[in-house]
Amino acid sequence: MDSRWIYEVGDIVKLKKPHPCGSHEWEILRVGADFRLKCMGCAHQVMIPRKTVEKSARALTKKNPAKTQ
Ligand SMILES: [Zn+2]
Repeated sequence: MDSRWIYEVGDIVKLKKPHPCGSHEWEILRVGADFRLKCMGCAHQVMIPRKTVEKSARALTKKNPAKTQ
């Protein structure tokens, strides 16, 4: 996927692999070397290395599309 996506807090990232609850979508709570993500299905929170997120991301939904560069 496009590793040039700009990930920001509040965005929704869709990952290739679903969470056990069935949801593919995660809200970004923190960005950095590791991302903190909250499952949109069950609100479970995880820390995932940025590289892993970039590799498995299928889509990114911006919280504020007008800000997209
Ligand atoms: Zn979940």
